[in-house]
Amino acid sequence: MRYYSTKGNTEPVTFQEALFQGLAPDGGLYLPEEIPKIWDQISHTDFTYPGLAFEILKPYVHEEISDSTLTEIVERAFSFDVPVVKIQKGNFILELFHGPTLAFKDFAARFMARTMEYFLKKRSKELTVLVATSGDTGSAVANGFLGVDGIRVVILYPKGRVSPIQERQLTTLGDNITSLEIDGSFDDCQNMVKFAFMDRDLREKIQLSSANSINIARLLPQSVYYFWAVKQIDNRASVIFSVPSGNFGNLTGGILAKKMGLPVENFVISTNINDVVPKYLKTGIYHARSSIHTLSNAMDVGDPSNLARIRNLYGQDIEKIRSELTGFVFTDDETIETITNTFLETNYILDPHTAVGYSGLQDYRKATGSRNPGVVLATAHPAKFPECIEPAIDQKIPVPQRLNNLMDRELCKTPMPNRSEDLKEFLLNRTL
Ligand SMILES: *Cc1c(COP(=O)(O)O)cnc(C)c1O
Repeated sequence: MRYYSTKGNTEPVTFQEALFQGLAPDGGLYLPEEIPKIWDQISHTDFTYPGLAFEILKPYVHEEISDSTLTEIVERAFSFDVPVVKIQKGNFILELFHGPTLAFKDFAARFMARTMEYFLKKRSKELTVLVATSGDTGSAVANGFLGVDGIRVVILYPKGRVSPIQERQLTTLGDNITSLEIDGSFDDCQNMVKFAFMDRDLREKIQLSSANSINIARLLPQSVYYFWAVKQIDNRASVIFSVPSGNFGNLTGGILAKKMGLPVENFVISTNINDVVPKYLKTGIYHARSSIHTLSNAMDVGDPSNLARIRNLYGQDIEKIRSELTGFVFTDDETIETITNTFLETNYILDPHTAVGYSGLQDYRKATGSRNPGVVLATAHPAKFPECIEPAIDQKIPVPQRLNNLMDRELCKTPMPNRSEDLKEFLLNRTL
């Protein structure tokens, strides 16, 4: 399989090249040249989660990774449960938060770390993985790469914009992980990372790779759980997926799954007031904006990178996009209200991100009357956000042991102004 750039100004590359480049040299994002229609072959077989991941990911990497190595990679990467929980008639929650950092980004980060580790065994040069995070990406990536030889991870996160637990997850690992606390927004962090990748001098001197949702190795494994959910529910039904979205990588995984033949009625794209994509669906005009801080902070993105991929997958045709994606936008007050009401009605505790997704599913049903099964992607464990959830449900949230352990560790972070030159200097002067 070869991977082309959404900007089309560069030659297609192998999986390994796309994995290590992150962003294509022309500034585009990589997508696979073919999307095999795999659903018919797998819909009637029962698989474990890693077994399903193997079948779906194999066509994308099989020229470069042997079956036995891929089996080992998926077994190590996806070594936790992926429950589908029915909370009301026809409404399901796909719990993607049972990995080590309690957020769905573990799926992508762990697969990417394992594939990079595999290819790096054949190389010698040290690699710097550079990642901007609005909260959860950084800790998922850091956990995925912790202790991997020959890789240092440098994380940029916006000062004061991540939750206390997220900050602990980002800054307490040590070893080959460094966290930079940037005096700016997530978009500023993302721009600094983009600058580093475009800087010739830097690219000559150090080997840089990205771990943001722009990396194709993060996108592909995010298709797998859409298949998993449909298989758990009813493999003949056409399912509605509601995806709480920020940078739209999770949704793009779903779009790929649909192109692989998965029966999907519609994707509900649910956002907080950072609503540039729902606005784009409505008006046909895309305006990037600065991000606004909300309770669902991992979705505070004002210029989502993956929109370039989505447009490309639909041939730049807004009508086609509109026929498969429906956008809904929710304020923080509405998010809290959904957390409260859902808890009262079903006893289920939603985190603020998943609550945005659940509100989207409810509004979609109201707008269309659809009675097909609906699946909300639950992107984070509620215990990560006690500050906003506990008052909403008037109860304490039980804290999983993994989080408790974090609270005793020391924070280790490097403050940095919102200046790309400072990042460059840091990257050039600090090695493992
Ligand atoms: C990253 C994240 C999102 C948004 O996912 P995208 O792929 O960027 O759209 C939603 N919820 C949580 C908890 C996240 O960490």
